[in-house]
Amino acid sequence: MILYTQGHDFHYEMENLCRVFFPNEKITVTSESSIFEGDVVTTELIKEYDSYRVDVKALVAGAEKSASSLVEKTDESVRDECERTMARELLKVLSQVTGYTPPWGILTGVRPSKLMMRLVEKCGEEGAYNYFINDLLVTDKKAKLALNVAKTERRIIDLGDEKSFSLYISIPFCPSRCSYCSFVSHSITNSNAKKLLPVYVDKLCEELAVTGEIVSDIGLRLESIYMGGGTPGILSAEQMSSVCSAVMGNFDLSSLREYTVEVGRPETVSEDKLSVLRDFGVDRVSINPQTLSDSVLEAIGRKHTVEDFFKAYELARRAGFEAINVDLIAGLPSDTIEGFTNSVDGVAKLNPANVTVHTLALKSASTLKEHGHIIKEGETAGKMTDYSQRALTALGYIPYYMYRQSRCVGNLENVGWCLSGKECLYNVFMMEESHTVLATGAGAVTKLKSPQDEYIERIFNYKYPYEYNTGFDELMKRKGRITEFYREKADFFGIRRED
Ligand code: SF4
Repeated sequence: MILYTQGHDFHYEMENLCRVFFPNEKITVTSESSIFEGDVVTTELIKEYDSYRVDVKALVAGAEKSASSLVEKTDESVRDECERTMARELLKVLSQVTGYTPPWGILTGVRPSKLMMRLVEKCGEEGAYNYFINDLLVTDKKAKLALNVAKTERRIIDLGDEKSFSLYISIPFCPSRCSYCSFVSHSITNSNAKKLLPVYVDKLCEELAVTGEIVSDIGLRLESIYMGGGTPGILSAEQMSSVCSAVMGNFDLSSLREYTVEVGRPETVSEDKLSVLRDFGVDRVSINPQTLSDSVLEAIGRKHTVEDFFKAYELARRAGFEAINVDLIAGLPSDTIEGFTNSVDGVAKLNPANVTVHTLALKSASTLKEHGHIIKEGETAGKMTDYSQRALTALGYIPYYMYRQSRCVGNLENVGWCLSGKECLYNVFMMEESHTVLATGAGAVTKLKSPQDEYIERIFNYKYPYEYNTGFDELMKRKGRITEFYREKADFFGIRRED
């Protein structure tokens, strides 16, 4: 597809919006005039005497639609207004040629609730809701969802202050690779990955020790811990014990509000591992079936069954975990609306503290994309997420965090639902970037939060375990930046300067 732009520099936004309708098409953006062949979207901004004219045209699969609008503002906000007007006109013509109306309107950013939160602060709940509906063309259902999430998130964010931080521990290994996965995770079926794991655990423990030292030197306060992956459940009970001991021995846990381990794939759950986690004070686990259909599990390349999930869940309950999260995905290949509603109902019967409903996202590294197995209709996935919203709300769950990924089926969202008071705080802290997250392990990214504004400084760990295992010294050097960052802003953080 060609996206032809003229008279403006809103390329990024217009391309993103085209991607909502055509998630897997190559979109070539150009402002060079030519005789184009195939599907073409034209966006033009023309300055007139005391206004701007927005012209948009789409020629897709032989269907042609166009729209035009005037922007009469002349103050400094005119650029934003022209961009939004163009986006609305583009949405209109693309909806006409495709027959699909995206529920999030022209909102393509990853954090609708963060935007909602800012708008509520600026113009109140009603003003923020109206802006979503009228300016961004978000549906009533999604605007209300964003508003509800924003309200809960605000309450959680306010728990922390400038000395707060959360700790992330990355375990980028899995029992096998799911067909839709674009994450840098190593399947343990690979003999190299098997060899890497024990060394990785040792290095991770060293990194935790160094990080703990830095934290205590600066005087930061630990709010939450999240061990994620990959599949942390891939660790043996002994390896889990080593990692948890490294946490316990190097961090002050007296201020800790929650300690989560995303065990992950049900087939990795065992009594001895759960018992180790309980012994070290882990109070939340996540066990993720993604669907309660064996045929869908097979289609996505997972090596466990629905029964494995129920057994794992029962083991976690018996081990004493009251806060269990269960992940589901809407829009999986070969799944149906009926299949998905069965998954939601089956999971809800267990009464878990949290249910996270993701929407399938296709990324370039996904083998699924290559094989072309994709539920193309955003409407189908939309009906699935709508059902989860209705069913979970009726059962007393509230939406407490939300994010979106690019190339999500139907441009839909991922929503964390919880029973009242059972929010996973880390998810909110991390997603809304409300305080620093110190991340350890391969693929992890530390985010240092400025106390004065929204600025976030990132420190990247090595992406792959083999680099992490061998380039560890360099990585430790990079960690020195944490101390520098806090010392530079010592007055704002109310921490001690270096003597
Ligand atoms: S369990 Fe998650 S991280 Fe691992 S392969 Fe599957 S989707 Fe990827």
